[in-house]
Amino acid sequence: MTTARFRGGEIMGIRIPTVFEESDAIRCAGCGAHIDGTPFRVSIMDIVSPEAPPTWAVAVQLNPGPHQFHADPAHFRSWASGKGYYFCRLSDVREIMRPIAIPGQEGRWGLCDGLHREAHELVAA
Ligand SMILES: [Zn+2]
Ligand SMILES: [Zn+2]
Repeated sequence: MTTARFRGGEIMGIRIPTVFEESDAIRCAGCGAHIDGTPFRVSIMDIVSPEAPPTWAVAVQLNPGPHQFHADPAHFRSWASGKGYYFCRLSDVREIMRPIAIPGQEGRWGLCDGLHREAHELVAA
């Protein structure tokens, strides 16, 4: 038995990165333009908060994503605005956003990072 058989394993083991091909396919959900480099990904999570127990009314019909944007939060907000979502003034644009049911406005949603303790201050995105 021999261990000397040459197979060029080190060379074969080098993987050619396909990052460039992949990034070509990434478009910003906000402005529709190609994203150079790493997109900012935002997922909309249906997270149960203690003050708002889940009912049929807060069953989220939002696409959870992840949605991909340019790093500038304005691109996320223009996307949210196009969808008719509200945006919490106390929130930053983060990787994980939570949907906020808006009382009396069925089918309309606010988005918040959920990291503040004050009441949401929802405004048009
Ligand atoms: Zn964009
Ligand atoms: Zn909020």
